[in-house]
Amino acid sequence: MRLSRYFLPILRETPKEAEIISHRLMLRAGMMRQEAAGIYAFLPLGLRVLNKINTIVREEQNRAGAIELLMPTVQSAELWRESGRYDAYGKEMLRIKDRHAREMLYGPTNEEMITDIFRAYVRSYRDLPLNLYHIQWKFRDEVRPRFGLMRGREFLMKDAYSFDLDQAGARHSYNKMFVAYLRTFARMGLKAIPMVAETGPIGGNLSHEFIILASTGESEVFCHRDYLEFDVPGEDIDFDNVDALQSTVDKWTSLYAATSEMHDAAAFEKLPQGSQMSARGIEVGHIFYFGTKYSEPMKAVVTGPDGTEKPVHMGSYGIGPSRLVAAIIEASHDDAGIKWPEAVAPFKVAILNLKQGDGATDAASEKLYAALQAKGVDVLYHDLDERPGSKFATADLIGIPWQVLIGPKGLAAGQFELKKRADGSREMLSPDDVLARLV
Ligand code: ATP
Ligand code: MG
Ligand code: MG
Ligand code: MG
Repeated sequence: MRLSRYFLPILRETPKEAEIISHRLMLRAGMMRQEAAGIYAFLPLGLRVLNKINTIVREEQNRAGAIELLMPTVQSAELWRESGRYDAYGKEMLRIKDRHAREMLYGPTNEEMITDIFRAYVRSYRDLPLNLYHIQWKFRDEVRPRFGLMRGREFLMKDAYSFDLDQAGARHSYNKMFVAYLRTFARMGLKAIPMVAETGPIGGNLSHEFIILASTGESEVFCHRDYLEFDVPGEDIDFDNVDALQSTVDKWTSLYAATSEMHDAAAFEKLPQGSQMSARGIEVGHIFYFGTKYSEPMKAVVTGPDGTEKPVHMGSYGIGPSRLVAAIIEASHDDAGIKWPEAVAPFKVAILNLKQGDGATDAASEKLYAALQAKGVDVLYHDLDERPGSKFATADLIGIPWQVLIGPKGLAAGQFELKKRADGSREMLSPDDVLARLV
């Protein structure tokens, strides 16, 4: 992409309305724009990051055996009356009437709808286990929408729903998602810790929130420091191996980790002092086993091996991709701007032509740009007539992991300068070596 043909509305001033760093940086970097309280338009740069996050989420859901579909945002109130949640959900639900005065709503979540889809088609235990997911916009009329995408009213969610014959099967389905989540967040450069979460009236211990530590997080969390050093399962992990999965989950739940709602101060204090970590955290994912809570009232039943009908055991598994855009920035930035982990960066490389209009720097920049594009590398070519200082500031602000500086001085020696945004390190290299590094 040539910056001269792109749409990147950078703000030089820090917007006053933004209270936390990710919100400020996203506005300054021209990633998004507020259209109403808690409702945002993704601008091109922001959309690129969101799409990269979605791709990682999707790959890991698919690897774990979940199957993608797409449910609508607008739902009928009827379904929610069946589960009893239409009245229970309260003011967070955006209720709508269509022209025939039928009660509709903008979905805050999809348990009812997926249960309706399931019961329409699945009759036998032989069709289980099944896990269906989608990545779709949700609306929750939050009391306090704030911090930009962190707590929006309209936000993107990946929500998966598992169906099993019994609790043991559901446990395995839960473990698959648990492990998929560990991998998903690690691939985004995040350290997410699974913390025991409230299960409501169902009880049991099958609910975990995946939390990233950040001083601006809205949750207060307590955990064992060793979680930060745990290894995440590799992509070769066998999701069908019940025991292997269970032992991974056992390891990741062996140490103390809880949000304030579930905090057990006495247990926490028993940890060695140096291992106690109390911090603020951001909830980026949440997994939940809820048994027959929806299948019973909505009559989602299958015939078991013994010929009798049983309500299926279900779980739901959420991730917030739009919140993740902000959470990754909270975890990875400096005074100059965002430092995107390569896996989610809007562009991998920025070419900074330090003397636009100069025959030699123009030709060298164009050549590298074409070569990177031919190799399928996401590259942004800063081809505007601006001072070098301003180009450095833009590239740092928008957080491109690799910057290639092409100026007359280096060119005289046949070299480009390659800068790594993560640590600021710089190297003079031949054009061929730069290309070899970046493909
Ligand atoms: P929170 O505690 O932050 O209100 P939640 O527990 O209500 O979140 P869930 O119902 O568990 O959220 O939804 C699954 C995921 O969707 C969350 O883990 C989070 O990543 C994301 N999410 C929830 N609410 C919002 C929101 N208002 N804005 C952006 N993302 C959200
Ligand atoms: Mg909430
Ligand atoms: Mg929560
Ligand atoms: Mg939650």
